Amino acid sequence: IIKTFELSKHFNNLEVLKHIDIQVDQNEIVVLLGPSGSGKSTFLRCLNGLEDITGGSFEVNGIHVDAKLPARQRKALIREIRQHTGMVFQQFNLYPHKTALGNVIEGLLTVKKMRKDEAVHIGERLLDRVGLSDKKDTYPSRLSGGQQQRVAIARALAMDPAIMLFDEPTSALDPELVGEVLSVMRELAQDGMTMLVVTHEMKFAREVASKVVFMADGVVVEEGSPQAFFDHPQTERAKKFLRQIT
Ligand code: ATP
Ligand code: MG
Repeated sequence: IIKTFELSKHFNNLEVLKHIDIQVDQNEIVVLLGPSGSGKSTFLRCLNGLEDITGGSFEVNGIHVDAKLPARQRKALIREIRQHTGMVFQQFNLYPHKTALGNVIEGLLTVKKMRKDEAVHIGERLLDRVGLSDKKDTYPSRLSGGQQQRVAIARALAMDPAIMLFDEPTSALDPELVGEVLSVMRELAQDGMTMLVVTHEMKFAREVASKVVFMADGVVVEEGSPQAFFDHPQTERAKKFLRQIT
């Protein structure tokens, strides 16, 4: 579903991503790990066009974006890609003046131009899926961080994405709220959602990932099964990373 071909990104003189080749197949859960500043967020942001790539190319759900294409053409492709991807960030970014349900159905109404009753039906089902049916009329300020993040997940799911991108979805949460978000993500994985996840939750990575990709300084240093990566890291860089986090 996702494939990158020597994807590169620099900010002025700073090379943040250097010829990244990563593949995420249908139904796979790929967990992207790496030290701070290694380029994980930038990589995810490139995949849905929040950052422009400066070299190479990538494909999401059959749509191919090449750095060599004119900017306008690239923008059109990115718009299409966004229709097929859901993204969840560390910060939940909910609309404060809309209820939980209002947040979830926003895209259905504005982007998909769906009828209100139809959208509400889908929205209620999704809130139920993330365990929040009783909070549909509640505003974000009255929700815990974990609940807000689950609304954000439901909102991303509303667009019926082919793949979900997660960038440290639990990093901003109080420790006791992390579990409820991870368990929603586990269920998504079990239901066959294709996911690319940046996280520092190593237990989640070990148990849920079909593949772990370890990045450092803008390059992919290692990739493999979670067992292989965690129990038998091949490189000094990965060993050092694992020592530091445990
Ligand atoms: P963390 O684990 O801390 O979230 P990360 O792996 O997500 O780190 P990125 O946020 O992708 O890392 O950043 C990679 C590098 O790119 C860093 O050196 C960062 O300072 C730089 N960078 C990111 N965004 C920009 C920007 N808009 N302009 C200039 N440099 C940037
Ligand atoms: Mg980051």
